[in-house]
Amino acid sequence: MRAAKETVVAIEYTLKDDQGNIIDASGDRGPMEYLHGAQNIIPGLEQGIEGLAAGDAKSVLVPPQLGYGEYSEKLVQQVPLTAFGANTPQVGMRFHAETNLGMRVLTIKKIEGEEVTLDGNHELAGKTLHFDIKVVSVRAAELTELSHGHPHQAGGCCGGGGCGSAEGSEGGCCSAEGSAGGCCSTEEPAAQKQGGCGSGGCGCS
Ligand SMILES: [Zn+2]
Repeated sequence: MRAAKETVVAIEYTLKDDQGNIIDASGDRGPMEYLHGAQNIIPGLEQGIEGLAAGDAKSVLVPPQLGYGEYSEKLVQQVPLTAFGANTPQVGMRFHAETNLGMRVLTIKKIEGEEVTLDGNHELAGKTLHFDIKVVSVRAAELTELSHGHPHQAGGCCGGGGCGSAEGSEGGCCSAEGSAGGCCSTEEPAAQKQGGCGSGGCGCS
């Protein structure tokens, strides 16, 4: 079977930047499974995998527009420190928030006096991504997987290893809120789109 719409594909991958630095790798996490054709992963990678079969290996070059988009200054904004209420913001902290561009992950870039600079760009925005992938398996998707728009594995809808095992995480696996510490926020593979496991919450019970 070859990777195509309505198949569940498992890949091992290493992701490098232009300088050859490793940004992410499936490594110890094990293969990443996704539902092909359901926007589970970035478009450039999915296009590169299309038509491959188990055992195939390939290098896939993904330009920003087929990855995490170009870096946009419009997604950088300043908010007053008081907006965080009782919480103490720290540089590098990430959280989900509703913006005029929808739900996004914001990163605290800078704190100066009473002003906090937030960046809504994905950390890989503007980057050309170099993937080395190996297809581990390709199988037909189950009906429930098609209706949910993501693969199901033992251990819950979000799959093993990732958020499925993050016990006590705020909001927990598959929460519609996608709160910080929730679904996939700690171990979200870089190849996955933001909101990886069921963007908007998979609603699995
Ligand atoms: Zn599901």
